[in-house]
Amino acid sequence: MFRTPSPAKIHSDASLAGKTRHATDSIAVADTVLVIAAHPDDGDFGCAGYTAQLAASGSAVDFLVCTNGAKGTEDRAMTRERLISLRREEQREACRRMGARDVYFLENEDGELVYDRRLLEQIVRHIRLLRPATVITHDPTDIIIRDSFINHPDHRATGTATLDAVYPTARDHLNFPEHLEQGLEPHKVRQVLLWSSNHPNFDVDITAEVDLKIFALSAHATQFGKQEDFATFSRERWKSEDGRYLERFRRLELSF
Ligand SMILES: [Zn+2]
Repeated sequence: MFRTPSPAKIHSDASLAGKTRHATDSIAVADTVLVIAAHPDDGDFGCAGYTAQLAASGSAVDFLVCTNGAKGTEDRAMTRERLISLRREEQREACRRMGARDVYFLENEDGELVYDRRLLEQIVRHIRLLRPATVITHDPTDIIIRDSFINHPDHRATGTATLDAVYPTARDHLNFPEHLEQGLEPHKVRQVLLWSSNHPNFDVDITAEVDLKIFALSAHATQFGKQEDFATFSRERWKSEDGRYLERFRRLELSF
């Protein structure tokens, strides 16, 4: 049994400022949320606790997955077609579990994502279609994260293209003007949150949602072996020194 997430409890800069600040403004700009991830499961790792909170408090949360996940297996008997299909279903199920509204797939080749006009257009198109106030994605600005892992090239391509899509490309109507003819108006995103950042400035307390986050992640059965080991590993990963569970983001509000 997994608890229904409680309404959003946001602690901004709690660890940095030494106090908890309730960022009610950020809830207003999180009414519509678009999570843009390179692979199936990245968005769940990055922000499933926060998105579950937001969805439970009435926000519309959509996911956009930029690649087909076709490289994500160590199983030599797994076929590529079957893996792509399984991973799409796993992401759909994970989104259901965290209360997301919908998930979209761009189907670019896993491991080969490059930042080009085509990827930028795909992301701008979805921003103009879904019109999110908040976009949540990978922090692309560093290759080494917390001196402990390498920021996957697909993650960097996704994060960079997403930031460029948010500003200025989706905002200005002369970028991809064919969108206007297709009924897609320019759109201004108000807030961006980046996960796996070396410079987090915004903590979300997900203590009440950590079980739900693990439940969502466990939908990705092709990715995780023994579920108990995975649950233990995950729980430790988000645990802070004071015993709370946190998702940490680099956050920026866009005023123009
Ligand atoms: Zn990934």
